[in-house]
Amino acid sequence: MRRPLVAGNWKMNGSRASVASLTREITAKLEDLMSIDVAICPPYIYLEQVVRAVEGCHVMVGGQDLSVHVAGAYTGEISAEMLSDVGVKTVIVGHSERRTYHHESDTLVAQKCQVAVRAGLLPIVCVGETLAQREADRTEEVIAAQLTALLASEEGKMTLAASVIAYEPVWAIGTGKTATPQQAQDVHAFIRGRLAAYDSELADNMRILYGGSVKPENAAELFAMADIDGGLIGGASLNARDFLAICAAAC
Ligand code: PEP
Repeated sequence: MRRPLVAGNWKMNGSRASVASLTREITAKLEDLMSIDVAICPPYIYLEQVVRAVEGCHVMVGGQDLSVHVAGAYTGEISAEMLSDVGVKTVIVGHSERRTYHHESDTLVAQKCQVAVRAGLLPIVCVGETLAQREADRTEEVIAAQLTALLASEEGKMTLAASVIAYEPVWAIGTGKTATPQQAQDVHAFIRGRLAAYDSELADNMRILYGGSVKPENAAELFAMADIDGGLIGGASLNARDFLAICAAAC
């Protein structure tokens, strides 16, 4: 039985004051959500503030990215150890915005997952196709390549076993266009099938989240699908009422 996870990606939004009130509103209702895991991922600069604010609450604080390097002359970068040091428990890796704007390759994403797991963090590793790739009928090919990079080494397989996958069709992120539950389920089943070809236990235990314009109105239908184990939520996670309603749909 896979325990659902709902994670909020706040992206580059907020201020000290708005982050404090959003965190307060979410933590006030967490006792209704004990049957699932919940994570919130604020911008780096607010991580420690949020870690302090959620102390003793049933919520993980997550980073939105991490450096592939452990330490050294990498201006502007934040390491896995630093995230862990301030109490962060999880980290989004390979989000499509990182892949697009920062040219992160499948190989780099796989390396970042390994670095995260070595530091004791739970990577939420994002995979997904663009609209052009879907329209060219290349969805499975693209996702297979992303998974192959993650599984390329023995450490990669162990890393993946300690990770969560988020299927995020790029055309559905922040666009208001959601994959239908069946479209999402088809890709989730494909991902689980690919993992099963490597290791059936890995496939059975893997939590695969759906992300892409999830809202309170469509969350229950998506989460009811057999291979969807929760969600990675962008825009709707900036509103506590909407985020909590989405979490409730996963319970
Ligand atoms: C995301 O950024 O991971 C995401 C799913 O965004 P949104 O929910 O806004 O589509």
